[in-house]
Amino acid sequence: MSPTIWQFSKRAITLKSSAIREILKVTERPDVISFAGGLPSPSSFPVKKIKQAVDDIFNSEDALHALQYGPTEGYQPLRTWIIDTINHREKLQLTVDNVLIVTGSQQALDLLGKALIDHGTKILVETPTYLGGLQTFTQYDPQYIAIDSDRYGLNPDLLTDEDARTASFLYTIPNFQNPTGRRLSLARRQKLAEKAIKNALLLVEDDPYGELDYQGQRLPSLISYAPNNTVYLGSFSKILAPGMRLGYIIGPTALISKLVQLKQAADLHTPSFTQYIAYEVIKDGYLLEHIPNIRKLYQHRCQFMLQQLEKYMPKTVHWNKPEGGMFIWVELPEHINTTELLTLAVNHQVAFVPGESFFANNPKRNYLRLAFVTVSEEQIEQGIKTLASLIK
Ligand code: PMP
Repeated sequence: MSPTIWQFSKRAITLKSSAIREILKVTERPDVISFAGGLPSPSSFPVKKIKQAVDDIFNSEDALHALQYGPTEGYQPLRTWIIDTINHREKLQLTVDNVLIVTGSQQALDLLGKALIDHGTKILVETPTYLGGLQTFTQYDPQYIAIDSDRYGLNPDLLTDEDARTASFLYTIPNFQNPTGRRLSLARRQKLAEKAIKNALLLVEDDPYGELDYQGQRLPSLISYAPNNTVYLGSFSKILAPGMRLGYIIGPTALISKLVQLKQAADLHTPSFTQYIAYEVIKDGYLLEHIPNIRKLYQHRCQFMLQQLEKYMPKTVHWNKPEGGMFIWVELPEHINTTELLTLAVNHQVAFVPGESFFANNPKRNYLRLAFVTVSEEQIEQGIKTLASLIK
């Protein structure tokens, strides 16, 4: 083999492919029942509606604009739709200048990391938290401070004023969190917002699952309590289709302007084509009829998985009963290491994500995340039965 003629940067060298990711590669095999992926159900994708939208765009003058470069901030009608929706829902008076369209909310996390983290910058993360968020922030080499959570979500009483004053931001997923499926309680939302205001702390509120509330009863977002202290991240991945790679950032204009500069350097703008399609799909209120169908589908699968857990798991195993979203968080007896259990489970054609991946510091090893929306009822029953017998 010829010697490499490049030298990786320090940042590239620190990026490691995780052992768990390697094991999970086999879950792409069709014989493996996978509760591991965080993918939305493809049966929720509005294929016909999107096809119609594309046809309508191509039958109009919009086709030429949809195929052209566009502004970094995003397609104006889509930004207006987003801000009108959020203003109405959260009782706010923000303007279109508070919105930046991004290439999935994953890009929002990356741009925020670039804008707000230097080597050693303190950032607060709810724990456990979204693995993809940790991976992104880690590139910028922060010092993580973990804030523990329980069944009511992140516990604001564990956030000290000193940490709140000195950290660059606090990253949280208040609705049907990844990986726990938990929702932050109303009282804690208020308390967290008060602490943020008191200590001039920026809250990064990541909300891709907010619309997947089975009862359709959203709690107010953190941005509604502390609009000057919150950057809100939204996404169309779980309510339209993740392949469109469409998300948005809502925040104070001074921060948005900096993020626009960073985004320009990263990818000029989010594809005009998908922005036009999304706007065409949603502009006449389509989501109001579409989202309840997704909620129903996910609620049904969730109930079914909960029933199977009840039926097969030993009494020493505990889990939450999500009120929305795509995940169940399972606690096993302390002596069971779920990363070791995964290797065994994969040999028996079942997969999940071991909990340790979701901790910034001091991982707990006896938790696992189950995703229930891409598997059939037969697979759920078979998979849970197998997992339970391995745990026993
Ligand atoms: N945040 C959280 C909490 C997520 O779970 C995900 C994806 N699963 C993302 C952000 C990224 O979503 P997207 O880039 O598709 O909008």
